[in-house]
Parts: sequence; C-alpha cells; structure tokens
Amino acid sequence: MKAESLYIHFPFCESKCHYCDFYSIGREKTKTTDADFYEKALHAECELWADQLAPRLKSIFFGGGTPSMTPVESMRRALEPLKLSNKVTSETEWTMEANPSSVELESLKSYRDLGVNRVSMGVQAMRDDLLLRLGRVHSRDAALRALENISRAGFTNFSVDLLCGVPGQTIEDLSSAMEVLTSFPITHLSCYLLTLPKTHRMFRELPKDDDQLAHLLFIDEKMRSKGFRHYEISNFAKPGFEAKHNLVYWQGGSYLGLGPSAHSFSPTDRARWKNVSSLHAYGKKVGLGEKPIEWREDLTDEQLDLERWMLALRLDQGFPRTWLDSPARLQKAAGLTTAGLIEPHPEFTDRLRLTPRGFALSDQVIQTLGI
Ligand code: SF4
Repeated sequence: MKAESLYIHFPFCESKCHYCDFYSIGREKTKTTDADFYEKALHAECELWADQLAPRLKSIFFGGGTPSMTPVESMRRALEPLKLSNKVTSETEWTMEANPSSVELESLKSYRDLGVNRVSMGVQAMRDDLLLRLGRVHSRDAALRALENISRAGFTNFSVDLLCGVPGQTIEDLSSAMEVLTSFPITHLSCYLLTLPKTHRMFRELPKDDDQLAHLLFIDEKMRSKGFRHYEISNFAKPGFEAKHNLVYWQGGSYLGLGPSAHSFSPTDRARWKNVSSLHAYGKKVGLGEKPIEWREDLTDEQLDLERWMLALRLDQGFPRTWLDSPARLQKAAGLTTAGLIEPHPEFTDRLRLTPRGFALSDQVIQTLGI
C-alpha cells in the first residue's frame, strides 16, 4: 500500500460529550502519564508504517478526540518516523480538528509552523443552553473567540461543525448560528443531524422526521444563499474549498489511519481495517512491534460495487446513468425523479444526482434503488 492520505487519531478530550461515539477519553478518565504513553506508542506505530505512504500526500487529517489538546512538540516527536516534511507539497491539505476551549492564538500559530493549513472546529451550537444539553464544555463566547483566533493566526481555510436536530433547537437558532458563523471568513461547514441510540436519555426528545427534514432543507437553502456549495450530504464549501481529505474517503482513495480506533483503506489490496479502540491495548501491541489492527476485511466485488453506489449517492457529482442497468432500476429511478429526490445533473448530461430533498432523505433513495 502507498496511501495518498493520512489520518492520525488523538484520543484525548477535555470531557466526554454524552452523545459522542468516537473513541475518546475525557480528562476525568485520563492519567497524567497517558499523554506521554500515547506519544511513544504513536511513534512506534509510525515506525511500523513509515514505508507505506505515497511520496506526495494529498491530505493529512489530525482527528479525535481533540488534537488541539496535544502540544505541537509532542506531535512532532511522535510523527518523526513518517518524515512528513518530505511528503507534503503546496497542494497538500493538512487539517487539524479543534475545540473552542483548546485553541489559543499562540498554539494555533505553532500548528501552522508544523504544516497544518486547515482547521476544523467543533462549534456544534451557538446557544449556551443547547451546548450545555449536549455536554459541551465551551460557551458561545468561547466559540466566537476561537473563530477570531483562527483568523488571526493566519488560517485562510477553516471549517466549522454544527449539529442540527438537537432537542429544543429551532429554525431561528440555526438561522442565527449560520449568520454568525458566515460573518467569519469560514470556507466550509459540516452540519450533522444529531443521532442517538434508543437507550439515550434524550432520544425521545429528538425532533420528529418532518421537523428534521424542514431543518435540513432550511440549512441547504441558507448555506447556498451564502455562496456555499452543498457538495456532500452533510457538507458545504465555498468553491474550491471542498475537503480534500474527506473526498479521498468518498471517492474510494487510499488512506492510512494511525492511532487507536483509526480506519484504513487500500483499494489496491481491496481491504479495509481498523485499529483497536483502547489506548492501552494499542500501546501494548505497538510496544511488541505488532500492527495494532482489531479487524481487517477483504472486500468482494459485490461489496466494492455496493460501496461505489453508497459513496456516489453522498456527493453532488451523483452517478452515471449507465449504472441504472436493469429495467427495474430504471423504473425506480423514474419514481424517485417524480418524487423530487433525484434529478438530472445540471452540468453533466450523462449523470443523475440527489436533490436537496434527496440528500435529506438519502436512506430512502438507497432503499428504493435496492442498493
Ligand atoms: S469533543 Fe468531540 S470527540 Fe471529544 S467527546 Fe466531544 S464530540 Fe467526542
């Protein structure tokens, strides 16, 4: 494998948000030695994979967790075996996730010196009581200060994450959040619908399907009116600022994930795998010189075909008409067109794509097409 993109997972957070299902450890559950332990373990894993990166990387993504809690010197030491400075070009997108409570101007400048050229910040909501309900440790004011600092540190490419479908959130809240966020020079917005397991204490308070649909359609309209392209189900970008790293995921490119719980995909090996989701199991394996893989899946032709469909339906590029390769699929596609869920692509006559309503109801499209 020669991965064109690299993901690194930093598993520490200030506090564990109760809706979060990423592998992350809140400060209340970390020991003082964990950060040092992780730096050494990550260094060991980097040594194991150092020769599996492409000579020129398309993208690097520091995710988590909250990578902005890790000091830049610790990152530099851990990643040294990868020799990233030789693999980064002026075209490489290097993103770091951050949270408003852990971005100071000086530390942001130090990440820029490392090579980070894009920040993705988890704002999630712009009302203090909603942030509290979500278990976030930051306030609206802290988010505003952080956005200011990102600009002042010289980042010209930055994204924010917003949640919709939060119990108690209204269309007016979303509207005012998007007004405030787009008053900063943001280039990208990811807006995810809050999903919770049935057992979660807030599950019963989630908005009804019709309200969720209304919120998603409103966000689509508002962001388009601000000059953003709705290029993926949950993502909007100013022209030319689509997330290169995520496009590698969505277009079936190769990526290597390092750190606990990180995923990797190699199209040439037709395989995906995932690292163990435990800091200590991870450290133990790499300490023994073993790759810390929890599972690996070798993909069949049918699985690759299914993935191709699922990925194509996520993006506004859509899919070629030739994929509707049976009378049954053609008939279903005609029904979806009549229902306003898919449409001919306005730029490419040989393609179809989901409409904004189709993006909001993409599960229905997938089911109908029988994918
Ligand atoms: S800050 Fe992000 S990664 Fe950390 S617990 Fe909250 S949602 Fe999860």
